[in-house]
Amino acid sequence: MTEETRQLELAVIASGSKGNAAVVRDRTTGRAVLVDCGVTKRAFFAGCDQFDIDPAAIEAVLVTHEHIDHTKGLGVVMRGLAKLGLHPPVFASLAVCAASSPMAEIAPLAEQRTFAAGDALSLAGMQVHVFETSHDSVESYGFRFETGADALGYMTDTGVVTGAAHEALGHVRLLAIEGNHDERMLADGPYPWMLKQRIAGEGGHLSNAQCADEVRTLLHDGLERIAVMHISENNNTYGIPVRELQAMLDREGHPATVQAAFQNRPIHLR
Ligand SMILES: [Zn+2]
Ligand SMILES: [Zn+2]
Repeated sequence: MTEETRQLELAVIASGSKGNAAVVRDRTTGRAVLVDCGVTKRAFFAGCDQFDIDPAAIEAVLVTHEHIDHTKGLGVVMRGLAKLGLHPPVFASLAVCAASSPMAEIAPLAEQRTFAAGDALSLAGMQVHVFETSHDSVESYGFRFETGADALGYMTDTGVVTGAAHEALGHVRLLAIEGNHDERMLADGPYPWMLKQRIAGEGGHLSNAQCADEVRTLLHDGLERIAVMHISENNNTYGIPVRELQAMLDREGHPATVQAAFQNRPIHLR
């Protein structure tokens, strides 16, 4: 792939159970989409600053699901944007809209639009394919972004990889995928049994091993960079999933690079 066809980039402002927000941008046009908004106004604007993202270039906000770590900053951030005269529409599924109090809070500030599994949205000049994930929220979604020759896959908060998700994540150049917990650390850790069952279950979060397995089946020549997302601060470390994925890539002889997305430090993939 040539430098001109590497159009997409991803800035992960925060990732993890205390808050999530990421910006997907088309570098050739500067037009961007915000995915989830579970961060403070300060963290959001600092992240934009750090990666030279003009808040006015954010043309839409996509909400994966109603859990508070993905939505709690919607009110403050949308109010902050409104003060700058910016009112990007906020997209979520009907069920997620109905279940989310931050979504209700921003109703006067931003137009709300809905999507459903299988939709192909046209946002900020990008094609956004919506797929359902498997999570203990009313509904939960991941996205595939495409522009010209480039593609990016984004999936967090899923207990298993659904068939639709696997299909949507194929042949992307940039891949942001959940590697939430180390199965041993979760089993041996301090969480109550019920919570352990929830996290490890079909409606929970992908483990490092599930993440590495999925990425292995997604390998193709054009895959260049992988970000491990939603890493647990209690049942994982930032190093373990990166090492596990790297070991898998080494075994497969694949040159893709892996990095962790952090709770408190933004990262950038391009
Ligand atoms: Zn989450
Ligand atoms: Zn969640």
